[in-house]
Formats: sequence, C-alpha cells, structure tokens
Amino acid sequence: MEVEKLKYAILNSDAIVVGAGAGLSTSAGFTYSGERFQRYFSDFIEKYGFSDMYTAGFYSFATEEEKWAYWSRHIYYNRYVPAPKPVYENLLKLLKDKDYFVITTNVDHQFQKAGFDKQRLFYTQGDYGLFQCSKPCHQKTYDNEKLIIRMIAEQKNMRIPSSLVPRCPICGRKMDVNLRSDETFVEDDGWHAASKRYEDFINKHQDDKVLYLDLGCAAILQLYSRCHS
Ligand SMILES: [Zn+2]
Repeated sequence: MEVEKLKYAILNSDAIVVGAGAGLSTSAGFTYSGERFQRYFSDFIEKYGFSDMYTAGFYSFATEEEKWAYWSRHIYYNRYVPAPKPVYENLLKLLKDKDYFVITTNVDHQFQKAGFDKQRLFYTQGDYGLFQCSKPCHQKTYDNEKLIIRMIAEQKNMRIPSSLVPRCPICGRKMDVNLRSDETFVEDDGWHAASKRYEDFINKHQDDKVLYLDLGCAAILQLYSRCHS
C-alpha cells in the first residue's frame, strides 16, 4: 500500500526534501475558520462580518489602529501559541536521523518551534513573527513578539492605542508583516542565507537518491504511526 511504499522510500533514501504547505499547519490544528475563529474573533465577526481568517487577512481596515487590533490576534494565535496537535514533532521524529531539508510556504514558525534544525529550513514566503518597512526603504526585518503581545493586551473596542502602531525605524513609514503578497516583500539576510543552504543541499545530493515529500496534507500523522508500529 502507499504508506508502506513511502516508509520504504524514507528508509532507503540518501536525503529527503520536504515541501510543506498550509495543509500541514491545518492538520496541526491551526484551522482558520469554524470554532477557533469564533473563539478569538467573535467581536470582529460581529462588526465586520468576517467568515474566516483567510478572508479577514485581506480586509482593508480604515485605520492602522483597527488593522493591528485584528492582525495582532491573527499573528498571536497562529504563530506564538503552541500548535494544538503534535504534527510537526511527529514529522521531526521521522526525519531526524536522515539528511533532510525543509522548504515551506508556511509563515507560522512551527518547524522551529517543534525543534527542527534552523539550518535545514527555508521559509520562502516570510514569517508572521517579523515586521518590515512597507515601502520597503531597507531590506531588514524586525521581531514583533513583544509588540504583538502589547497590542493584544492594550487594545479596546477593536483598536490598539495609536502609540503602538508600528513605524519603520529608518523612514517612519507604516510597517507590514513580512509576508510575500507583492513585490514589496523583504528578503532579508536570513532569507538569502536559507536560500543558499537549500541550493547547496540540492547540489550536494544531485547524484544521490533524494526523496521529495510533498506535505500539504493530513497524512503525516498516519504515516508516523505506521513507521513506528
Ligand atoms: Zn522604511
């Protein structure tokens, strides 16, 4: 059966490249709609009629104070809280004794939180945990954890205090979350270093048996249990 074939392929590969998408985080419990969305955003749902976090993330708020009231919660509950299910930890157990590399479009930092080697990760599309200049006037990113937590603690009636609206330390413009949505996305030094490590990994293994695992799906839990049974 397919799972047995995959188990064999993992054991007999020289190297593994994991391509991970949104489905992996959904299977870890980071669902963007339903009960979880209701629990954290009932006030926004009532006021704005939002149906889920995907569409809410594209909403054009009238003010920065409203925008960051929404986004601080969105970022906090999808980036800074532990994943509800140990999907990433289980994936690491499967890979840890192999020469592996992960390339992912996910922006929620879950590979690092599960203990994956940072040197083996390439986050191509950014990170909820980083801010960048909206222009951008310079190619640098900034950790946002402390500010995000303050935005959540100090927001009232779906607005943060104006003093907490993030501004670029160089030019004073608005800040954005470091997410690839258009050509303003900042590829900082860490991004370029990870891109280079990924390229080196592929080059190093070009004559080897490389298994490419495409994980956007919930199959990883099942796979894990089979591999260890
Ligand atoms: Zn700037």
